[in-house]
Amino acid sequence: MPELPEVETVVQTLKNLILNKKIIKVDVFWNNIISYDVNKFKDELINQHIIDIKRIGKVIIFELDDYYMLSHLRMEGKYYYYNKYVKDKHTHVIFSFDDNSFLNYHDTRKFGKLSLSFKTNLMNHPFIKDMGKEPFDITSQELFDKLKKKSIPIKTALLDQHIIAGLGNIYVDEVLFLSKINPLRKANEVSINECQTIIDNCIITLNKAIALGGTTIRSYTSSLGVTGRFQNELLVHTKENEACPVCHHRIIKIKVHGRGTYLCPHCQEK
Ligand SMILES: [Zn+2]
Repeated sequence: MPELPEVETVVQTLKNLILNKKIIKVDVFWNNIISYDVNKFKDELINQHIIDIKRIGKVIIFELDDYYMLSHLRMEGKYYYYNKYVKDKHTHVIFSFDDNSFLNYHDTRKFGKLSLSFKTNLMNHPFIKDMGKEPFDITSQELFDKLKKKSIPIKTALLDQHIIAGLGNIYVDEVLFLSKINPLRKANEVSINECQTIIDNCIITLNKAIALGGTTIRSYTSSLGVTGRFQNELLVHTKENEACPVCHHRIIKIKVHGRGTYLCPHCQEK
């Protein structure tokens, strides 16, 4: 699943390719990708320009003249850009631009979603309405207040996008390792100082991953041929039985609420 750094990479790559282009046609080949009336979606996008592209959490936001188009890649969603009309069986939407170039939405699992929002109403859109703040924006007090209501493992809490947005499985393992916190610790037993440590390590980890274009673990590759190099920098995730980079004890793999979780049992004893 693309995580925040991968989505940021997709946003930056798309900005270099399609900014200011005008949409002249939209073909939808799999209606369930569109969380909106499909015919309206196709009609309302005609003659809209791509004014800006940004993201909120892991949702890509295309700013158009009259709307925002929201895109959630979920498991396997990708964008490809072409100078000719190309379609394969996993191409579910094709946006045609006025300069005869094309943006394809491609999704082998079909879990991704596209939707439209009026400009005045973006923050009420269901894709982002209940999303927590990102590590870049949340304070230690805000994180502490959210965690103190939860008796679930801290790992599970940090994956909950309502608590903090943008962290996926890989990054939570790395952040908890750097913070010397056991992933099974109860969220409501994490101190406010530890919340600050978690936030600091989220920012360090995400910024490093963004600079390196994210990761390519599992089948994920960023759109348009950009591959992430952050997997070369991972400290514990996927490192079962290897030596901890800090204390040289063996890294173990456990399950936390069904998610494969890597930790150093010595550094993350508590
Ligand atoms: Zn260790």
